[in-house]
Amino acid sequence: MARDPRYDILFEPVQIGPVTAPNRFMQAPHCNGMGRMYPDSMIAMRGMKAEGGWGIVATEQCDFHPTGDVTPFTETRLWGEMDVPYLAGMVNAVQKHGGLAAVELVHNGHDTGNIYSREVPIGPMHRPVTWRDHPVQARAMDLSDIRDYRRWHRKAALRARDAGFDIVVVYAGHDGTMPSHFLSRRHNQRGDEYGGSLENRLRLYRELLEDTLDAVGDTMGVIARFAVDEMMGPDGLEWQNEGRDAIEMLAEIPHMWDVNVSNWENDSKTSRFAPEGYQEEYIAFVKQVTSKPVSTVGRYTSPDAMVSAIRRGLVDMICAARPSIADPFLPNKIKEGRVEDIRECIGCNICAAWNNVSAPTRCTQNPTMGEEWRKGWHPEKIAPKSTDSHVLVVGAGPAGLEAAHQLGKRGYRVTLADAAAQAGGRVTRESTLPNLNVWARVRDYRLGQIAPMVNVDLYLNSELNADEVLEFGADHVALATGATWRRDGVGRHIRNPIPGADTSNSFSPDDLMDEKRPDKGPVVVYDDDHYYMGGMMAELLAGEGYQVTLVTPGLCVSSWTEHSLEQEHIEKRLVGMGVEILPRHSVLSLGDGVVQLENLVTGETLARQGTLVPVTMRLPNDALFDALSADQGKLAAAGIKSLRRIGDCYGPATIAAAVYEGHRYARELDAEADPDGVPFKTVKYDLELGG
Ligand code: ADP
Ligand code: SF4
Repeated sequence: MARDPRYDILFEPVQIGPVTAPNRFMQAPHCNGMGRMYPDSMIAMRGMKAEGGWGIVATEQCDFHPTGDVTPFTETRLWGEMDVPYLAGMVNAVQKHGGLAAVELVHNGHDTGNIYSREVPIGPMHRPVTWRDHPVQARAMDLSDIRDYRRWHRKAALRARDAGFDIVVVYAGHDGTMPSHFLSRRHNQRGDEYGGSLENRLRLYRELLEDTLDAVGDTMGVIARFAVDEMMGPDGLEWQNEGRDAIEMLAEIPHMWDVNVSNWENDSKTSRFAPEGYQEEYIAFVKQVTSKPVSTVGRYTSPDAMVSAIRRGLVDMICAARPSIADPFLPNKIKEGRVEDIRECIGCNICAAWNNVSAPTRCTQNPTMGEEWRKGWHPEKIAPKSTDSHVLVVGAGPAGLEAAHQLGKRGYRVTLADAAAQAGGRVTRESTLPNLNVWARVRDYRLGQIAPMVNVDLYLNSELNADEVLEFGADHVALATGATWRRDGVGRHIRNPIPGADTSNSFSPDDLMDEKRPDKGPVVVYDDDHYYMGGMMAELLAGEGYQVTLVTPGLCVSSWTEHSLEQEHIEKRLVGMGVEILPRHSVLSLGDGVVQLENLVTGETLARQGTLVPVTMRLPNDALFDALSADQGKLAAAGIKSLRRIGDCYGPATIAAAVYEGHRYARELDAEADPDGVPFKTVKYDLELGG
C-alpha cells in the first residue's frame, strides 16, 4: 500500500553537524539489561532497530570511567580500549542497515556506590551516594578532579570515534549525571567558578560539549541530551526559568538538542499516568531559542502525532525508546504505508522494570525483544510451517492471541476459541480499570493481524469442554485458559486461607472486574502481590467513593512498581484519593464485618470495619487440561499429537510473559528441542585464565 503523503516529512534527512540522519526517527538511548553483560544480545537488538528503519540508533548509557561504576546495572561501558570491539560490533550492526550509531557517554556522579570498581565516588559536593542508600559517600571534586573528569570524557569521545560511532550524546538528564548534578542548586553549593550562578553551575556541561566538539566534532555529530524540567516546582529546574535560561546560554553549541523532563520516573511515565506526547508543553520553547535541530521523547506511536509535533514547530526529530522496543519496525511500517501493522507500545514499563532488576529487558507487546540473538527471533519474520497440522487454541487472551497470530503467520490452520463474548482475556478486563485503556492494544493489534488471515478462525462465546476438544479433530491443542485470583488471602505472606473469609466478605480482583461490588462502606485491600493490581483495586474503589485502607506486608504500596518507575506516582495518587496505607501489616481474620489486622513489626493487632479485597496470587484455570490429560488413550484416539498449556494457565505471571509463552509455542511447534538443553544461546567467554 502506498504511504500517506502526509507522512513524507518523517522521511526527510536531518543534518546533525557533519553527519546526516537518513530520516527523523531516533531510537533514544535506552537501558536494556543486556549491555556489556550480554553483548551479542545487545548488538542484535540494536541492529534490529536499524533494520526496522530508525535513522539514529543510540546505545544505552555508556559509562566512561570506573569512578562512575553502575554495578549492578548492566549498561554499556567505554572505560578503555578493551571496550571498543564489542561497541564496534553494535556500530556495524546499525550502520549496515544505513543507520547512524550514537553513543551516550555517561558518568552518574554522586549516584553510584562504585561497588565493583571500589573507586571513591565523586560529585559536586560531599554527599552520601543516592542509589540504594549504600554506606558510601561521594567526595567533592576539586579543580584538578574536574580537569581529570573532562579529560576522561574527551578520551571516551575519541574511543567512541575509534569504535566507529557517528554521534556522541553528551548527557545531562534524569537528575542522574555529573553535569546535571553540577547544574542543580540542591546538589551544588560550591563556592568556586563551578557553583553559585547558573553560568557557573552550567560551566561543566558547556566545557564537556566544547571539549567533545573539539575532539571529534569535525567528523561526528554532537547531541546535547538535556532535561529542561525536573517536575518538582521551584525546588528543581523548571522550563520557565533555569531550564530555558540554560538552553539559551548554550543554544548554538551542540549540533542538536535532545530535550526531555527529569527524572526517569517522569521522563518514562507509564500510560497510567501520562498520555502520548506528554512532554510537549515542557519542551515547546526549545526550538524558539536555538537554530539547531531539536528532538524529544513522549511515547509517540502515532505517525499523526509525530507529524503534528514537527509541523507545529516543536521538534525536528522524533526520539523514542519504548515505541522502538514495542515495534523496532515502526519507521518502516509508516514508510511502507502499513500503519495498521504497528505494534504500539502500551506504556506499561515492563521493559524498564526488568532492566532495573538487572535482567535482560522484555516487552509486553514485542515478545522477540531481547531474543534476537539468543533465540534468533525476528520481530517480523517467522519460519513457515513444517507440517499441515491443524491447531486448536483454547482461550483468546494474550497468550492464545499471540499463539494464533504467529501460527497463522507460519501458515498453520488455526482455530481460536474463547468462552467470552469478546477476545482479549485479562487484557480486555484489565483495560477497563482506571487509566489502563491503552493496554487493550495488546488485544487489538493481534485481532487486527489475524482478521485478514484465511487460515485463522476465531470463535467467541465458545466455551469448550474436554469432549468437545477431543471431538474437534485438531492435531495439536494449546490451552490458554488463563488464571483466577484467589479470594482467601493465600500468597507470599499468608500460607493458609484467612479464617472467616468467604464469598460474602471477600472480593477478588476478578470479582471487581466482573463488576461485583461490596455494599457501600469501608473496604480493606490486602496487597501481597506488590505489582500494580493491589494499588489499582484501591484506586478503583476509592474512585467510586469507598473508604479504602490498603494493607500490605511490603515496605510500601505496590513495592515492585518501583522497578516500573510507578511506585511514587501510585502512592501519591492513592494518598491524594484519601486511601489509608498500612505497610508492614497483614490480615489475621475476617468476621462480623470486621477485618482483624496485625502490625508485622510490633505484633500489635488492630481492626478495620469492612469487606476484604485480597490481591495475593492466581491459580491456573487448568481443569480442562486435567480432564484431557487424564486419559492419554482418548487423546491418542482423537489424533491429538500434543497438548500444551501456555500463558497464565501454565504459570500465572505478567501479560508480557503470557505473550512470550504464546509466541514461543508458535515458534517451537513441530520443532525438535532437547529437553535437557539450555533453550537459548549463552555468552561465550574469552578468559585470561582457565582451560
Ligand atoms: P493469558 O494471560 O494466559 O492469555 P487470560 O486469562 O488472559 O490468559 O485468557 C484466558 C482466556 O481463556 C479467557 O478469555 C477465557 O474466557 C478463556 N477460556 C478459559 N477457559 C475456556 C474454555 N474452557 N473454553 C474457551 N475459552 C476459555
Ligand atoms: Fe511499551 Fe510496555 Fe513494551 Fe515497554 S514493555 S516498550 S512500555 S509495551
